[in-house]
Amino acid sequence: MSIATRKIEYLVEGIKTSDGAGVNLTRIIGSPELNMLDPFLLLDEFGSDNPNDYIAGFPPHPHRGFETITYMINGKFTHKDTAGNEGHLSDGGVQWMTAGKGVIHSEMPEQTEGLVRGFQLWFNLPKEKKMIDPAYHDIQADQIPVVELEDGKVKVISGTFQDAIGPGRPHTGMMYLDVHLNSKQDIRLPINNGWNGFIYVYEGSVDANISAPKGNLAVLDTENDFLCTSTTENTRFILVAGQPLNEPVARGGPFVMNTKGEILQAFADYQSGRLG
Ligand code: MN
Repeated sequence: MSIATRKIEYLVEGIKTSDGAGVNLTRIIGSPELNMLDPFLLLDEFGSDNPNDYIAGFPPHPHRGFETITYMINGKFTHKDTAGNEGHLSDGGVQWMTAGKGVIHSEMPEQTEGLVRGFQLWFNLPKEKKMIDPAYHDIQADQIPVVELEDGKVKVISGTFQDAIGPGRPHTGMMYLDVHLNSKQDIRLPINNGWNGFIYVYEGSVDANISAPKGNLAVLDTENDFLCTSTTENTRFILVAGQPLNEPVARGGPFVMNTKGEILQAFADYQSGRLG
């Protein structure tokens, strides 16, 4: 008897780029190689022990039409917006920001030395929720449930794994796990059928039908559980999956809407001070 498992369809290596006021980062989704993986619009990894790579941060800039989910593996960030909201993220914390109809915010590192490492994911909003009120949900590290494995652990940021339910509050179906395997072992990760998903290996290496080494995003197919094996000690990867929206996507820099007209409206609203 064979048990069907979810396969890796292909691997994507990010491209080195810079954004904000000169933050060096790797763009993994949202690049020519992988423009989007519905409902995910962008994935950046930032990671450096050189403050010059990140200290200038992301000074005030707008967003409309989607959510940004920032997961700090190491380091501290502070965010502020023009409505007076302020929050702090530190090691292991997550900021879940719903831009909705519009925010203007800054995202700045707090530390001046030491390793900063994390991910920012752009998660699309469905058409009927693109113009909802903006919101911030700061999730501190100790609010993220941890499922202990025999020799490792799974942090559940959104969705469920075994008995744990993540604190993320997605507007459409979505899971976000951070998997740590301390030795060579198998793990079975259930994902809803029909959802698009990926793993991104940030330490070590993972084997399924093909190998995904560190620095690779593996796009998964859409049916069955994902079963994989860590082939190194200290293997770490994020697994992100979501229900595809199957709606038109119009992008314009920091705005993601359904039509070009809505993008032009977003720029007009920003320029006239009616956004955020
Ligand atoms: Mn931003």
